[in-house]
Amino acid sequence: MPNLVDWIKKISFAEIGKGLGLTFKHLFVKPITNQYPHQKRNLPDGYRGVIVHLRYDDMTEKCVGCALCEAACPSHCITVVSAEREDMPQKRYAKQYILDVTKCVFCGFCVQACPVDALASSKEYEMATGNKRSLIMDKEMMLALGDKYFPSRQKRPKYTEERLAFFNQVKEEGFPTAKKGAA
Ligand code: SF4
Ligand code: SF4
Repeated sequence: MPNLVDWIKKISFAEIGKGLGLTFKHLFVKPITNQYPHQKRNLPDGYRGVIVHLRYDDMTEKCVGCALCEAACPSHCITVVSAEREDMPQKRYAKQYILDVTKCVFCGFCVQACPVDALASSKEYEMATGNKRSLIMDKEMMLALGDKYFPSRQKRPKYTEERLAFFNQVKEEGFPTAKKGAA
């Protein structure tokens, strides 16, 4: 049996009035909608957008064609064709590097896997297109995006980084004797 208060609420439509009041209140709240594409959000530094290739400060590419990124990628969207450098025998580079952005889940595993920090997550996200083929990126496209998003480049290391020595990318003139065997 409804009590008197419930009965009054029912006949006065109090609940409806309360709901309308809440809606009305939002007319005066400052809107938080961004008017994209005229207004864009400031993305956080850790944002993981399209993967790009990086260069050293002498503009040489960092990638040594080891294909560890290809192995680490859970979506199988990276293809690396490695080759030996003609000017530097036994030193390798990525003759071909293909990234299929349509399959990428932007997890960043490839960035973590790269032993020479040749990859990075950019803030590029505006990739919408009617042509899916344009989303298959080669190394040149990735380097160009890297130049755009990472204009300050790391100095090319010489004998300081053991892991780079391992990948034979440190310097042409040869390593100190102790490192020669390891490299
Ligand atoms: S971000 Fe993830 S899915 Fe995309 S290429 Fe790298 S490892 Fe593959
Ligand atoms: S892991 Fe790094 S160095 Fe190796 S192929 Fe991939 S991008 Fe190049």
